[in-house]
Amino acid sequence: KVPVVALVGRPNVGKSTIFNRLIGERVSIVEDHPGVTRDRIYATGRWIGKEYRLIDTGGIDMSNEPLMNQVRYQADLAMDEADVIVMVTSVREGVTLEDEEVAQRLHRTNKPVVLAINKADNPEQRQMIYDFYTLGLGDPIPISGSHGTGIGDLLDKIVELF
Ligand code: GDP
Ligand code: MG
Repeated sequence: KVPVVALVGRPNVGKSTIFNRLIGERVSIVEDHPGVTRDRIYATGRWIGKEYRLIDTGGIDMSNEPLMNQVRYQADLAMDEADVIVMVTSVREGVTLEDEEVAQRLHRTNKPVVLAINKADNPEQRQMIYDFYTLGLGDPIPISGSHGTGIGDLLDKIVELF
């Protein structure tokens, strides 16, 4: 069975950017799954010969819902569907209430969780990831979806957990 990887995290942290990075550059097949949602939230990726299914839980349009409900729904979906969960947040705002809510929900799963800190575009920002240890999800991995840095390290960590 192909392992499922889910991206979760509050809006605007860069999940869609990372999704496109993960499938766009290093990955062979991209599939649409009409009927799931209007957005393309599923794709097939490959890294060092290992295939996986990627879900962008943020691609489900819940813009009518309060922010806290959106992130709760995403975390619950990931805990149900994924084999590996990638929590994405951003170094720009530091740890927010929504980040803490997502992390608290993810503490209840025994599935592996990887913590990716996006928008770490330069060395100064990569130094600021240490605050995110307070989420209790292990080592924060600095990445930049815009620049593509750290994406390989993130993928290494993900496939290690299959
Ligand atoms: P999502 O709501 O989590 O899916 O976030 P998006 O992927 O739509 O990105 C939200 C905004 O953050 C967009 O304006 C992106 O261009 C920007 N963004 C995404 N990744 C990065 C990054 O690594 N660095 C910076 N500076 N901006 C980013
Ligand atoms: Mg998005």
